Amino acid sequence: MLGLTMKRAMRGLGELALIERIRSGWGHPGAGEAARGSSGGAHGVVLGIGDDCAILRPPRGHEVLVTTDFTLEGRHFRRDLHPPESVGHRALARGLSDLAAMGARPLAAFLSLALPGEMMRTRPGRAWVRRFFAGLRGLAGRSGVELAGGDTAESPCGLVLADIVLVGSAPAGRALRRGAAHPGDLLYVTGELGGSAAELASIRLAGNPGGPSFPASRPQTGWPILRGSIAKGGLPSPMPAFEGSPVPHPQLYPQPRLAVGLALLRRRLATASIDLSDGLSTDLAHLCRESGVGAEVSAQSLPIHPLARKSPGALQLAGALQLALDGGEDYELLFAASPATRVPRRIAGVPITRIGALVSGRAITLIDSTGRRLPLKVGGWEHFIKRH
Ligand SMILES: [Mg+2]
Repeated sequence: MLGLTMKRAMRGLGELALIERIRSGWGHPGAGEAARGSSGGAHGVVLGIGDDCAILRPPRGHEVLVTTDFTLEGRHFRRDLHPPESVGHRALARGLSDLAAMGARPLAAFLSLALPGEMMRTRPGRAWVRRFFAGLRGLAGRSGVELAGGDTAESPCGLVLADIVLVGSAPAGRALRRGAAHPGDLLYVTGELGGSAAELASIRLAGNPGGPSFPASRPQTGWPILRGSIAKGGLPSPMPAFEGSPVPHPQLYPQPRLAVGLALLRRRLATASIDLSDGLSTDLAHLCRESGVGAEVSAQSLPIHPLARKSPGALQLAGALQLALDGGEDYELLFAASPATRVPRRIAGVPITRIGALVSGRAITLIDSTGRRLPLKVGGWEHFIKRH
């Protein structure tokens, strides 16, 4: 497991300075302060960075949920396509979205980060790291989660490798799971679908694949979607609201639906839930398999993100419907609810759309605009680098 103090594997490369920068930038409460129940930091972290272990205290009557995600350069992001703030944001967003899917509240995040040596030796490299943490810290702050520990090492392969562990909590026995839906339940999604893949397609078309390894050192040009909306530091300005829809930069700054997940659990609205990380067609199949049901989805009812509808870059690669079904990385929630449950049209400011129903059997069917029934094949991508 993780060494919770930042280790010294990068000795001589400014690792201690890096740790101090992370620590001072985080503003975590002292042990005594948190132990007394101060609201000065993220809830649940009694002791954060600085000792051998972090100490977490889940609320009384809660269980602890844990999820972990690799963020690997070349697999999950590219330095020449994703601004460093986006890389930090996305690394955290993936785990937060998993917590949201289960109706959990985040307690703490732990980051193991391997950086190429030149990142600590060069000014552009250090700038990249600083901006990575700015993106991560921004989402963490808006999500009420504290970076409570981690590890650093020099990457042996010249690539940035990050592993984030998210710890959350939910009332005992109440966490939303994939496997508790029933035939007859109705299917809903939050927000819009396909925007992340559409934005990525546009960035790829306008970007500079194979370009310089430190994009922070060159002006950001050729970003048609982002032009005019990137502030001096590289962050979209203003930063998108934490909840609400549509997400203006669904690929670069996806917004985990934590408040929706909490509401689904608290109000007992959902029988099962999953987050849409790999695409609706893939994640629906996961939910159906775990619940032992089939599904019917209406193509016309799918809420397609405006970027998927409009982006000429995206449309050159795939139709808007395909982006919504297979695009992935939207980090919206897909959930099932009993037909007897009144599901609001908005939860925590996020639109909720009914897209179909669960049925007995195992078939997953897409009903197109003419009423034709087609098997909905699993087509979610397995990360963009691999596919292209
Ligand atoms: Mg997930």
